[in-house]
Amino acid sequence: MKEVDVILKHLPDRETVKELIYQVGFLKNLLNFAKSNKIMMRICSLALIGIMSLGVSIAAAGITLGLKVNYAGAFIATIKNSGVFDTAREIAVNHIESSDAESVIESPSFSMTLTVSNRLDSAVAVADAIIQNTGDVVEAAALTVNGERVACAEAELINSLVEARRTAFDISGAQNSSDFTDEVKTVTGYFLKSEISDSNELVSVIDSLDVKTVSVLTSDTEIPFSKETVKTSKQLIGYSKITTAGQNGITRKTENIEAINGEIVTRSELESVVVKEPVTQVTTVGTAISTASAAQRSEERSAGFICPLKRGSFVITSYYGDGRNHKGIDLGADKGTSIYAAASGTVIFSGYDGDYGYSVVIDHGNGYKTRYAHASALCVKKGQTVNQGDVVAYVGSTGYSTGNHLHFEIIKNGSRVNPVSYIGLD
Ligand SMILES: [Zn+2]
Repeated sequence: MKEVDVILKHLPDRETVKELIYQVGFLKNLLNFAKSNKIMMRICSLALIGIMSLGVSIAAAGITLGLKVNYAGAFIATIKNSGVFDTAREIAVNHIESSDAESVIESPSFSMTLTVSNRLDSAVAVADAIIQNTGDVVEAAALTVNGERVACAEAELINSLVEARRTAFDISGAQNSSDFTDEVKTVTGYFLKSEISDSNELVSVIDSLDVKTVSVLTSDTEIPFSKETVKTSKQLIGYSKITTAGQNGITRKTENIEAINGEIVTRSELESVVVKEPVTQVTTVGTAISTASAAQRSEERSAGFICPLKRGSFVITSYYGDGRNHKGIDLGADKGTSIYAAASGTVIFSGYDGDYGYSVVIDHGNGYKTRYAHASALCVKKGQTVNQGDVVAYVGSTGYSTGNHLHFEIIKNGSRVNPVSYIGLD
């Protein structure tokens, strides 16, 4: 076996040589067989030397014998020897996230080939090819909770569902930070198709994860404005006007809210600031029964009118003005109370006059007229001359009236003026 020894010295490594030895084994057998026949031995020796010489020259040029690997119906690699495939299988099994990975790796078939040494595939490359070509293996992700795998699916699907669950309890408008109470991770890798979770199961697993949400929420609450009334003697009784409009203030509150699955566990106020003070609403009301000057009131008192109802028979129920543009004075009295002419003059109206009801108007000359309204009965006729103190009508509640009273007006040069001073009720 001198020739083989010579070859061994020239070949690059033991594994390749083993393969070679295996392949040339049949030649050795042939040689042994040929020993019995001298002629055959001669022929075979020559043939063997020829083949060995060829092997030496092949090895010298970097050309070597290899194995083509056919896996799951496809050519996947050229490897030095079957041991490379075994290593690759081990790597692939370790790469597949399943305890059952071994069972899905199919058996390869090899075929001898000549190749250039540096074209041989590594075990890692073969492992990758095994994974890619194994029909039962898919690239996916495992969802782990506290390190324990609970589901398996497409990574993108898991991530989107997990993210949706994590942020499900975020408070709109708040600064939220949310996280799972357990350690939730997505681990990508290769999995067996049989391990991929049903989508309903995946959703239910993810929806059962507890989420702690911490939200910093800023909210505004209104501070209702208060009201105050300011009296003024410069306006008639009944005058009422909002002189400063009320405005609600704003309190801005910042709270820290901690919740588990949306159920608030703690709620604490971080800050409360009045960002807008309320503005008090001011209503100005009149207290005056007349806005006339003292001199003018004195002059009106001496204009020669008397009160149309006897003192003690009435109460003043409404002054002139009175916030409703009241153009007379109302003297509440019993029905039938006598109404006297405030001054002498001529009756220019006596009858029913719309809102005034039964009423009398007397012209006193010198630009003054007086009106007596809502009467229950009238005692004078149009055109009749009356003296101061004559009974012209009786108190009633006719026309636009809600109770027995005399609505009394003094009309000066066509305008209804405040009668209060004229008839000494100021
Ligand atoms: Zn009135």
